[in-house]
Formats: sequence, structure tokens, C-alpha cells
Amino acid sequence: MNHPMPFDTTQVFIGGVWRATDAGQQLPLHNPSDGSLLTHIARGQAADVDAAVQAAQTALDGPWGQLTATERGRVLMKMSAAVLLQVDELARLEALDVGKPLKQGRADAVALARYLEFYGGAADKVLGETIPFINGYTALTLREPHGVTAHIVPWNYPMQIIGRSVGAALAMGNACVLKPAEEACLTALAFAHIAQQAGLPAGALNVVPGLGEEAGAALASHPGVRHISFTGSVMVGGLIQAAAARNAVPVTLELGGKSPQLVFDDAELDTALPFLVNAGIQNAGQTCSAASRILVQRGVLEQVTERMAERYRALRVGPAMDDPDVGPLISRRQQELVQGYLSLLRDEGGRGAGSSLRIVAQTPLPAGLPAGGCYVPPTLVAGASATHRIAQEEIFGPVQAVIAFDDEAQALQIANGTAFGLVAGVWTRDGSRAMRMARKLQCGQVFINNYGAGGGIELPFGGVKHSGHGREKGFEALYGFSTLKTVAIKHD
Ligand code: NAD
Repeated sequence: MNHPMPFDTTQVFIGGVWRATDAGQQLPLHNPSDGSLLTHIARGQAADVDAAVQAAQTALDGPWGQLTATERGRVLMKMSAAVLLQVDELARLEALDVGKPLKQGRADAVALARYLEFYGGAADKVLGETIPFINGYTALTLREPHGVTAHIVPWNYPMQIIGRSVGAALAMGNACVLKPAEEACLTALAFAHIAQQAGLPAGALNVVPGLGEEAGAALASHPGVRHISFTGSVMVGGLIQAAAARNAVPVTLELGGKSPQLVFDDAELDTALPFLVNAGIQNAGQTCSAASRILVQRGVLEQVTERMAERYRALRVGPAMDDPDVGPLISRRQQELVQGYLSLLRDEGGRGAGSSLRIVAQTPLPAGLPAGGCYVPPTLVAGASATHRIAQEEIFGPVQAVIAFDDEAQALQIANGTAFGLVAGVWTRDGSRAMRMARKLQCGQVFINNYGAGGGIELPFGGVKHSGHGREKGFEALYGFSTLKTVAIKHD
């Protein structure tokens, strides 16, 4: 272990106390840049989850539940300021744990601080309404916290996802139990340390690392949990929703995507090109809103493909601590999954006369990469048809497919023609066309002449179809993390 850890990584955080799990079990944590053993983390189980839910309920019944909205906001602001002091350390942990290049980790840490600032500022600005009703009555609505909220997050953007879900839940006065991913949970633990030092009352945030099928399943089915926020795969999202249904609790599901960027003949290409590639290779393509499909109108097809290929040839792949453009994937499993798609691509391309599916650019992996690292070469594919598996399925690696279209109708048909609907980008100088597309694209966010993979702390975010339901980020999230009570008062 060459990399010192700033705290004991093997503990859970329950009721303001750091301690070993009930059963004392641990899990190994590996560095995806070289495969080395980084440290061990807690393997939380049902008993730990139960203690965490009880601690959260105790916090709601105690000091945390007594704070005014303004006081909660101030605590979040203090947490935000404390995170900003730790940006470099948080980026270092994320690089070691997730394999995320340092500058991308720094951006995530700054985003975490901004979420806390945004929700800190919003905490005392969530208003109810008065409702015209029968004479002699006053009717009004109150926004109240759900109670104990569960937050099950994946490994790809731990800091950002914690910021948006835990930040909004705390702002509304809920008490949180966070289950980070078993592949990467160091920044979740670091965040809990920061929150504690910044003065977050005990029990308002509890963190129980562990396996999905153990700690995650126990949390999703716990009868003391009143809301579940889940970010992850479609398959597990279904299990979470089923567990929530048994306890009749609401769920926010942020699932996968196969997000398109539509490039029309009249697009401002110099502006578009960096966004087209970056939104595909950011975090080595392990981004739910990665722009994995680039739909290009035929008039600029050749030019866009060639200019994207140039960028691919110039990308730098390497260990996360060297701050490359593209780091390793999270794990051997993820690496094999993406390699499987690259083999499939060769099979699909070779199949049938006239198939034009081909790799147009593949970033060479530099000599001397650590043998144990989980690297795959960033790959740009052209000639894909809308029905190829690589144009339909979420690959979750640095692979983008260029797909040609003739007109608006065909662009929409292809863009909307997958099981997903998370984000879309539209590049055109024609304002009317941009609005037509924005109206007809089936997804939760549309960017016109820009693209933010997961972008916009202030912007409501979430999907349709298999990309999930419910909205996080922005002010909208505060409605999701609260419940509405109507009060009708008869006064004469
Ligand atoms: P995953 O579904 O395997 O795991 C996500 C979390 O769920 C982890 O904490 C895991 O431990 C937990 N989990 C696993 N099985 C569980 C179970 N049976 N019960 C309860 N919890 C369980 O997903 P992943 O592979 O870690 O993440 C990749 C997926 O997440 C991709 O599909 C990606 O698109 C999606 N994602 C979506 C967003 C978004 O905001 N829409 C953001 C990031 C990732």
C-alpha cells in the first residue's frame, strides 16, 4: 500500500460514530490504474443498515430535526466551504479509487461543493401555497421531509451523485443513509468526515459501505426508510423499485443512457467538435449521460468523422495520477465488458456484404502502462446503423458511434429509437429547428449548441423510459425529497 489513507477506511459511520461493522467483515479495494490493493473497506450488512436507519430516525427526533430551514442551510454552506478546502485530496482519493484523472476528480469535488452551496441557499426558500377554498376556510400546503432517506450510489461519479442527492435531502430536513458502491467509496467516507467536522449533527448522515446484494438490498427493503434515491443500472433499479413497492415508498431512479448528439449540416462545427468527443470520453465513457451516439447529417458526415478521428488519435491514455485525458475503467469486469463490445463490433462489421461498420480511430495505448490496469483504447466507430448493438446498448466505456442521417425526421427516429432517454444535444444555427427537436426528443434534458454530460447543478436531471424517473438536481429535487401536506383551517 503506497498510498496513505487520510482515515481508517474500514469503518462505517453511524449516528456520528466511526466504528467497525457489526460482523467485523471487510472488502478489498483495488486501484484500477494498476490493479494493486489500495486498502480495505467495511462490508456492511443488514445489522449495520438497521443501526444506520435507527440513528437517522433518532437524529430526526432530536437536534437535527429541530433545526430551522435556515440553520440547515448554514450547515450545508459550511460543508461546502470545507469541501473546497479538500479539493486536491478528494481528487487524489478519486484517482486512486475510481481511476479518474485528477482534473476530472477536481471538477467533481468542486461540483460537490457547489451542490452543497446551491441546496444550502435553497433550504429556506421552499414555499407552500395558500389555496382558494370554501368561505370561512383557509387552506394551505406545507412541504415536509420524508424522514429517513436512502441513497444508493454507483462508482462512476460518487462525489457529484452524493452532492445532488444527499445535499438536496438534507436541505429538506431528511436524515440520510448512504450506501456507496463497493468498487469505490473513499470519497463518500471522506465526505462524511468533512460533514462531521463542519458541524452536521450526528445521525443526519450515515454511511454504510458494502455489497449491493447485502447492504444495498437491506437498505432498499428497510421498513424505516421513507424514500429511496437510486443511481445505477437498469437491472438493479428494477430490484430497488420492487423493494420500495413492498413498503409503499417513493423512488427516484437515475439509470443508464445511450444519449445522442445531433449535428446538422448548418452546425457551428468548430464549437461542436470538442463537445462531441469530450462528452464521450469523459471519465473513460463511464458516464450515464455520455454522448455515445453522434448523429451527423450527411452534408458534414465526412468532415465531422475525420475531425473527431483526429482528436481520438491525439488523446492521452494513462494512470489516473498522471492526469491523462482517459484513465482506466473501474474494474477488470468493466474492462472485459467493453472489450466484448469491441469484439462484437468487429463481428458485426464483418457480417454481410455492404456493411460499412468500421473503427475509424482508436487511440493507441502507450507502452509501459501498468499490466494490472483496466485500460481499453478509446474507439471511434463509423458506419453504424441504428440497429447495431453498439448503437443500442449502453457500453459504459470510451466508445462512440457515428450514425448518419438525412433529415430531421430520420434524426428523431434514430435519436428516440433506443430503450433509453436521458440527455440529447442538438447542433444547428436554425433556432426553429432547435426548438422542434427539443420538443420531440424523448429524454430528460436537451442541450442546444452545447452539451453537458450530467451537466448543470441548477438544472433538473433525470430520464424517461429505461433511463429512469424522478428528477434530481436543481430546485426540482427539493420537491422529490419532500412530501406535501395540505392543511384546511375552518375559522368561522
Ligand atoms: P449497479 O446498479 O450495479 O450499482 C449501483 C449501486 O447499487 C451500487 O452501490 C451497488 O452496490 C448497488 N446495488 C447493486 N445491487 C443491489 C441490490 N440488489 N440491491 C440494492 N443495491 C444494489 O450500477 P453500476 O454498475 O455501479 O453503475 C453503472 C450504471 O449506473 C450504468 O448503467 C450507468 O448508466 C448508471 N448511472 C446512472 C446515472 C444517472 O444519473 N442516470 C449516473 C451514474 C451511473
